[in-house]
Amino acid sequence: MNFAACRIKRDREKSVRNRHPWIYSGAIQEVEAGAAPGDVVDVVGQEGEWLGRGFYNPASEIAVHLFSWDRAETPCDALWAGRLARALELRRSIGADPGPDGAFRMVHSDSDLLPGLVVDRYAGFLVFQFLVLGMDRLKDLVVAEAMKLTGAKGAWERSDTDARGKEGMGRTHGPLAGEEPPVEIEIDEAGARLLVDVRNGHKTGFYLDQAKNRIGSRAFMRGRKVLNCFCYTGGFSVSAAMGGAVSVTSVDSSRPALETAARNMELNGFSGEAFPLVNADVPSCLRRMRDEGVRFDAVILDPPRYVANRDALQRGARAYKDINMLAMSLLEPGGLLFTFSCSGLMGEELFQKVVFSASADSGRNMRIVGRLAQAPDHPVLLSYPQAGYLKGLILQGK
Ligand code: SAH
Repeated sequence: MNFAACRIKRDREKSVRNRHPWIYSGAIQEVEAGAAPGDVVDVVGQEGEWLGRGFYNPASEIAVHLFSWDRAETPCDALWAGRLARALELRRSIGADPGPDGAFRMVHSDSDLLPGLVVDRYAGFLVFQFLVLGMDRLKDLVVAEAMKLTGAKGAWERSDTDARGKEGMGRTHGPLAGEEPPVEIEIDEAGARLLVDVRNGHKTGFYLDQAKNRIGSRAFMRGRKVLNCFCYTGGFSVSAAMGGAVSVTSVDSSRPALETAARNMELNGFSGEAFPLVNADVPSCLRRMRDEGVRFDAVILDPPRYVANRDALQRGARAYKDINMLAMSLLEPGGLLFTFSCSGLMGEELFQKVVFSASADSGRNMRIVGRLAQAPDHPVLLSYPQAGYLKGLILQGK
């Protein structure tokens, strides 16, 4: 089967051959007449040789999202259904489906060769994001297939991110199929009971990318006085308490997130004086604690994305450094710092340098006792390593 040809410039062919899933508009030489936004195009090289196939959208900076490098693979209902089934199967084969009461990311866009599609399962409900025009057109099929594969009770859409605008689509959210999810879905994260608001919560409702790190952090917490900065709905706080922390202070600037955090703590039997929740700006709160001489045995720092684009790199790096310096100044001897960056533009190496410069400037001798990344249900294509946005370090002071 042939689709409209999209010829790319010679010096950009290598990237397609190497299976990088994006083609920027500047890489395109010409597109055959008749290719409409959202259509499938055949990407060809200078000599007309077939290189790959993808969704075309001239309105987007990323003019083609590639989904196939095999000419025999024709885009049809069976192909998409097969990719969804494979995404689920691959996760199950590495223990990344936590079972019927748990939550996980079933589809992670390009990494599952399903560009612009995110599917998260929260217990019996699926939450979808359609962020690429060509994928948006497959909505009915994708939703029906994913429901069938998972046996989910209902499907909800959260295509309300900036990414839609870049594709020339409006934001949209609401019911897609089956039962409407409850106001809060209770999920089980390795024994932690957590409430998720898929209608209004961040992302599709919860930070699933941190699931493994939250669970893993428990082993470090026994007997510690813990400070969880940027706590959102308290995932790390519940984990710390489950791991035997003697106290957990949770800080976030979002009141609704903090209210859910309070209920999540209660739901797991952690309430009272040892588990305060503070509605505040983290940097100001850290500064005040430092000045008052408040100290902790473990600090978790999981800030929002400080680097949204290249121009913000320097400013963002400075912001990471500042909060890390402040957090380090609160640590008791032997204290732990769990520090994260979800800025894709800040690589692991740069992040480590920034954290190092925070330790140098604060005169702290810290050592790395763990390296963390996004959960395995958010896989990263080797051909597109930039998709590995979340990185973290567990540091221990002397
Ligand atoms: N660790 C969390 C996710 C953190 S997301 C989890 O595992 O679920 C980042 C959080 O930072 C969001 O909840 C957001 O409300 C909060 N936030 C953003 N800017 C902030 C600021 N200046 N001070 C305090 N919280 C902030």
